[in-house]
Amino acid sequence: MTINKLKISCIQLIVLLSLSVCSQPQSSRTEFVLGGTVCTITLFEQGKDSVYRDIFSRLREIENLMSVNIPSSDVSRINATAGVKPVQVHDDVFIVIERAVYYAQLSGGAFDPSVGPLVSLWGIGSNNAKVPSPAEIDKVLPLINWQDIELDPQTKSVYLKNKGMALDLGAIAKGYAADETAAMIKKTTVERAIIDLGGNILILGEKKDKSLWKVGVQDPYGSRGSYIGILQITEKTVVTSGVYERFFEEGETRYHHIFSPSNGFPVNNGFLSVIIITNNSMNADALSTAVFVLGYEKGRKLVELLPETEAIFIFEDRSIRKTAGTDFTLTDNSFRLVD
Ligand code: AMP
Ligand code: MG
Repeated sequence: MTINKLKISCIQLIVLLSLSVCSQPQSSRTEFVLGGTVCTITLFEQGKDSVYRDIFSRLREIENLMSVNIPSSDVSRINATAGVKPVQVHDDVFIVIERAVYYAQLSGGAFDPSVGPLVSLWGIGSNNAKVPSPAEIDKVLPLINWQDIELDPQTKSVYLKNKGMALDLGAIAKGYAADETAAMIKKTTVERAIIDLGGNILILGEKKDKSLWKVGVQDPYGSRGSYIGILQITEKTVVTSGVYERFFEEGETRYHHIFSPSNGFPVNNGFLSVIIITNNSMNADALSTAVFVLGYEKGRKLVELLPETEAIFIFEDRSIRKTAGTDFTLTDNSFRLVD
């Protein structure tokens, strides 16, 4: 089997600063953090060096606690003692795992933070990406079960009940990191900011002229930075789960990084991407992945149940659907807005 293409791209949403730049002097800082994600923080008016330094050191702290690729991280320690003993974790880690389990329950297991063994088996985004054999998939599927994650809020400890189980917080940790960054910025004199963690966007504050912020929605088929439409928002977070984010191709088939916990394969339900717009980035991150796995019908129902939560659904056939409260203008006529 030959893998002819390995691709990782991470910019799905671009905040369009347009003319507002003239009246709102801003500065930006970009670093690769959170597993090599391009993280750009833009602070308006009062963006001091020390604020940037503190933000990126906080992001590195979160990565050091939650990455499965760092052996000393809390998540790696939980995984290493799966089926043996609980592990006491940092508050940050407990908060994220608790929320991940909440979304697992809410989505009926479509979102499942115990997806770690599948992530390792497929290796998507690594140099070892491959299509596993049916036997290999059958072997790991019984290990994917969020109900076998035991949380003890008293001791802040986490226990995976079965040997071989492994957590992976890749679908939620960036959202938490964005919220934490926002909380830090709110403690400074900075009144407006754009937090962009690999296309996971959180906007703080109002524009000076009170006009809405404009976010360009990436063309899933186009080059980096090209967009198919413009989303207008107030102070919100906008988070995407997409097939083009991280994938490899073998023959004619594209294998991407969001897995069905029931069959062990990348989810194939006609989506190119799901974009969630809401107030809390951790919720948006978990929800974008959950809705992607649930599929359009169930996913839309879930979004519509939640307060102050909107979504855009982009399909392989170039149709786009959106929930009622979404202010989205299509600019690329090769796509079509259905509702
Ligand atoms: P996102 O880009 O936020 O949708 O997250 C995708 C990442 O979450 C993947 O790269 C995996 O690390 C992990 N993941 C894949 N499938 C699932 C799933 N069904 N539930 C939770 N996390 C998943
Ligand atoms: Mg997510």
